[in-house]
Amino acid sequence: MIRPIRARSITTIALLLFTAVAQAAAADKTLDVYWVDVEGGAGTLIVTPAGESILIDTGMPGVRDPGRIHQAATKVAGVKQIDHLIVTHFHLDHFGGAAELSKLMPIQNVYDNGIPEQNPDNNPNDRSFLVTIKPYREFQAAKRSMIKPDDELPLRQTENRPKLRFRCIAAKQQFAKARSAQEKPNALCAEAKPKDKDMSDNANSIVTLLEYGDFQLFIGGDLTWNVEAQLVCPINLIGEVDVYQVNHHGLGVSNNPILVRSLAPTVSIMSNGTRKGCDPETFATLKGTPSIQAMYQIHRNLRADQHNNGPNEYIANLEAKCEANHIKLSVDPSGKTYTVNIPSNGHKRTFQTK
Ligand SMILES: [Zn+2]
Repeated sequence: MIRPIRARSITTIALLLFTAVAQAAAADKTLDVYWVDVEGGAGTLIVTPAGESILIDTGMPGVRDPGRIHQAATKVAGVKQIDHLIVTHFHLDHFGGAAELSKLMPIQNVYDNGIPEQNPDNNPNDRSFLVTIKPYREFQAAKRSMIKPDDELPLRQTENRPKLRFRCIAAKQQFAKARSAQEKPNALCAEAKPKDKDMSDNANSIVTLLEYGDFQLFIGGDLTWNVEAQLVCPINLIGEVDVYQVNHHGLGVSNNPILVRSLAPTVSIMSNGTRKGCDPETFATLKGTPSIQAMYQIHRNLRADQHNNGPNEYIANLEAKCEANHIKLSVDPSGKTYTVNIPSNGHKRTFQTK
């Protein structure tokens, strides 16, 4: 009778040890964010300390961008599936790679604004959208949902570590409720200058906020000028953030200074192409935002206006012949500091969270 009891005890001890080691390993893990180079599209991969993955946008259709996202996810970040995919809006450089990616790795939960029945850019006579959206409509996913302001992903937490949250701030030009501490008017709004109304789907972009302890990352898809102002005027619904993923690849129809200055980020990261985004107006806005200490770019802007570039050290891809280098950000398990790293050039810089 002794032997089975002993055997069971050893199994129990082994299991307890394994659980303790697994918990300690998770507690040591950083929260990681990867900006994959999809050459002027968007593909932002978040891997939580518990190992769950969130992908925001999927680059263009074809093999290039889904292949790069798959490579970054499996070979660099070490995840086997996408647990949560957010598609910010229905433009090809954001939804286009999803169907191909689903052939390379499983995609579990998909969140978007609901697939439009026709071209979402106020152009119902353009039938090409019906063709390009078909693979997205049909690819295999465990679950598809529409995401709404104030929705929050059900993420696994890590014991003895800061609270991890990923929530929706805006979608389809609807907004989350203000947090009570911020319910005072934003003084910067007096300087707001509206632009012409944007009738494209960019204005409907899903806006999300990633939080880990004091760390906050803003991701606003291709949100445009007037709706950007609504996020922070008359009341700033978000408060200040640490990192601003530059809206819309850095195009000048987005990145309203009222938004950028109200969010007051320490770091900006731009998913631009060699000739797309990093517009002079946006570059000036970022440079003129006093809180910003470092501006990162996925690509060097190779247009004639090359003075609109940060220092080479802060740019992941310098040449026209693209090497698809990514930018990585890691938040310390304490949530108090984060490091931005460009592995291809060895750049590393650590910042304090607010
Ligand atoms: Zn875009």
